[in-house]
Amino acid sequence: MVVMKFGGTSVESAEAIERVAKIVASRGTRSPVVVVSAMAKVTDQLVTMGQQAASGNCEVALESLEALRQRHHLTAGELLGKKRAATLAPKLESRFAELENFLRGLAAVRELTPRGSDFLLSFGELLSSLIVADAFIVRGLKATWVDSRECLVTDGTHTRAVPQMSETRERCKKKIAPLISRKQIPLMGGFIAATAQGIPTTLGRGGSDYSAAILGAALDADSIEIWTDVEGMMTTDPRLCPAAKTIKQISFNEAAELAYFGAKVLHPATLLPAIHQNIPVYVLNSRNLKSTGTEITAQAPPSRDIFRAITAKTGISIVNVVASRGIMVHGFLRSVFEALDRHSTSVDIVAISEVSMSFTMETKRLPKALLTELEDIADVTPEDKQAIICLVGEDIHGKPGIAASVFNTVAESGVNIRMISQGASEINISFVVQESDVPRAVRHLHEHFFPVSGAKVRKIKSKKNGAAGITQTREAAGRGNERRPPVVRLKSAERKAAGAS
Ligand code: ADP
Ligand code: ASP
Ligand code: MG
Repeated sequence: MVVMKFGGTSVESAEAIERVAKIVASRGTRSPVVVVSAMAKVTDQLVTMGQQAASGNCEVALESLEALRQRHHLTAGELLGKKRAATLAPKLESRFAELENFLRGLAAVRELTPRGSDFLLSFGELLSSLIVADAFIVRGLKATWVDSRECLVTDGTHTRAVPQMSETRERCKKKIAPLISRKQIPLMGGFIAATAQGIPTTLGRGGSDYSAAILGAALDADSIEIWTDVEGMMTTDPRLCPAAKTIKQISFNEAAELAYFGAKVLHPATLLPAIHQNIPVYVLNSRNLKSTGTEITAQAPPSRDIFRAITAKTGISIVNVVASRGIMVHGFLRSVFEALDRHSTSVDIVAISEVSMSFTMETKRLPKALLTELEDIADVTPEDKQAIICLVGEDIHGKPGIAASVFNTVAESGVNIRMISQGASEINISFVVQESDVPRAVRHLHEHFFPVSGAKVRKIKSKKNGAAGITQTREAAGRGNERRPPVVRLKSAERKAAGAS
């Protein structure tokens, strides 16, 4: 059995959905289970509509709702022909009526809670999956629409719910397995799930990939296919660097690291269920039916290049925490870590000395209350608009000179580095730069480490100032006699990957 997931751009229009039907038909003998995202941009539009309604601009939100309504009916009409579209229309209309009532309710109470947000965002996948299921049927595929909220069970952490695998497995065995035995193609919306009590939840933005992996694990699939708008996992984001190349094979560890550090092509938690059951994952291009894409498996052959890929994760804050004068140094770090724990915060990169600590976090996840609490024991300076650039490759372990080469290359691009991290047994080198420096640094690094065929990796130019003028974490001024903080790298396993979207 193969679980096939199609992202927003793969179902953005009638033409795109036609291609999806052809791709699924080509897997006919392999018992496909299909997961689809909302049509491209719909989830963003639902977010905006929710914000508008909750701030009292209900009429503006309802105008956007009307545009959404027309887009879905138009696509259904193009795909299904008049008769079948007329049968589907009432099903779509009842969803739109529910959505309209919800938006009016938001305008009345002027508040959008995380639980409300999950309910609101669920409409994107519900609508797209209903249309795609009918489009399949009209094209002779025996599709059966399945309500994902009845199969994927999660906890109640709204906006980034955590799957409950044993309950999910049981539900999938009951609701999906019988369809497969009857040679039906189960088709459902990704991203959305529900608690055991039936309250709608979502798996975090970009979570349809994760849905596919959860289903793959719950149904013991032979493989999981993530169909998207690029040729697979690439050596860097092709939007950032057009010279990016497709990676043919990559290991679970490397791909998970890339996803965690910003390769949007996969939701960061996607590989966890696949790793658990050793199910190969393929990333493929839905615009190219012959695509061979990227194969992600437990082990991958060594790559020709030093690194497998480069990623950048923007929207990062550096928080510098320096013990206030008069505070006992002993116990300072414990107090900081305890505060982080109390606020359930998961940090990416940490640099530590006896009296200071700097850490990075996604700005949107940085709780104000944490900063207030830390201010009781330390001088705290958060800095926004930062980014983590991460170079990943299993083959870098134990090879001298690689870090120097990375930092010299960044220095050559004229970009200043704010924090650095490379753990002893890790498979990546990551560092923090200003967000606005990302394109320059990534292109330069890509040109250096992924030279066009035939060209050799340039020799490292040694610079007088050692590691290319690297600024480690910016320490508080006036504490000149304290030691430079060594950098501590958190183990991947310590990250709450499930909540990392
Ligand atoms: P989908 O809607 O199919 O889920 P996404 O937009 O979530 O698609 O992910 C695909 C996008 O991820 C690509 O268009 C590309 O710009 C971006 N991306 C970022 N890093 C990478 C990478 N290393 N390899 C491939 N794509 C990447
Ligand atoms: N539609 C959701 C989003 O845009 C989930 C997904 O596309 O994977 O975040
Ligand atoms: Mg995606």
